[in-house]
Amino acid sequence: MMKTRWPEAYKVIEKLENAGFQAYVVGGAVRDFIRNVDANDVDVTTNATPNEVKQLFPHTIDVGIEHGTVLVVLSETIEVTTFRSETTYTDFRRPDAVTFVRSLQEDLKRRDFTMNAMALTKSDELIDYFGGREDIVNKIIKAVGDPAQRFAEDALRMLRAIRFSAQLNYSLEQETMEAIQSLHHLVAHVSMERVKVELEKIWISDFVGNGMELFVSSHLSDNFPGDWETYRNCWRGFSSFGNTANGWAFFAIMQPHAEVESLLSYYKCSNAEKTHVKQVLEALEQLEKGCWNLYSFFQFTEKVLIAASSYARQLLNIEVVYTAEQIQQTKAKLPISSAKEVVVNGNDLMEWTKKKRGPWIREAMEKITVMIVNGKLVNDKAEIMEWFFQEYIDDDLQI
Ligand code: ATP
Ligand code: MG
Repeated sequence: MMKTRWPEAYKVIEKLENAGFQAYVVGGAVRDFIRNVDANDVDVTTNATPNEVKQLFPHTIDVGIEHGTVLVVLSETIEVTTFRSETTYTDFRRPDAVTFVRSLQEDLKRRDFTMNAMALTKSDELIDYFGGREDIVNKIIKAVGDPAQRFAEDALRMLRAIRFSAQLNYSLEQETMEAIQSLHHLVAHVSMERVKVELEKIWISDFVGNGMELFVSSHLSDNFPGDWETYRNCWRGFSSFGNTANGWAFFAIMQPHAEVESLLSYYKCSNAEKTHVKQVLEALEQLEKGCWNLYSFFQFTEKVLIAASSYARQLLNIEVVYTAEQIQQTKAKLPISSAKEVVVNGNDLMEWTKKKRGPWIREAMEKITVMIVNGKLVNDKAEIMEWFFQEYIDDDLQI
């Protein structure tokens, strides 16, 4: 059993118990313990109030006292949350108020899925009121209680359901799926930041195809712009190569070019993500026209080239593809790996020509760079100068 982070959680539990409180490991860690895999983080739940927790541990951090959460800092940081239930929900997203409750069962009842609604005592005794263990054995994601009510309380849970299916290769229990199909429109109440996080978690999951298939078949995708449907099967072969921006690149390839920029803005992609997507599309365009030349290998990062060559095959049926190794080798053999390595600069050009600064400098520097990358010009000041006056200045330079 892999429980590398648990000793610290057990210290927290023991201290709380010694002070007369109840405390348990809960949530994802218990799920992963039953699944026999290592958990990302270990959460503890207790009937002690946040202030009582703070009094017991010398080093704590307030992260959400009003929600009952305190971080206890030992050699690891353990999230300790007071038993709570959530009262009414009016915005389909956050509870209007959080009430601290005295029983563990009340706390477990407000959790999203049966697999996430179990608790474990310090001596590994499982507390499972809703059949979570059985659902894990059967690989089923099932809402705790009435799924329609639970999704109406918090629409984010619908996205979490399909995300877990992508991470765990579990299927959605029928009533849970039907509730999503009838309430999918409520997902419009979830902030785009949260939607983005869940989509990206799907994209870096092992079973991304499950998640994207469910995203469409549940009709959740109807609430989001872009064509999610036409290429829905292609996601099965998708690899993010560990980079979430590649999910946006893959999605962008499936959209009309003219719409990509505004779609990425709608999904609140960062400038770095937009640049990455743009470059993958550019690299693909070059592949569609023929194949990459040395300048392509110079111009695009390894990440962009790996993504583009893989998605070219998958989405555009382009045969010319490069393995990651070939890409690395070709890049390594280039005479220069960045424009900064060119031994002359704009000041040199101005000095040589006695001409004023202007767009001609960028054009000339670009031409010089292309020549060097293609092996047609040696990256040496004297050689570049000679070429510049003999070949370039007469033909190309209009000054
Ligand atoms: P991960 O491995 O992704 O961290 P997790 O199950 O730990 O999975 P968290 O988002 O860290 O997921 O949440 C911790 C626990 O809090 C969940 O296991 C679940 O019991 C509960 N939970 C989280 N979000 C919700 C929600 N929107 N509605 C109800 N319960 C939730
Ligand atoms: Mg977690």
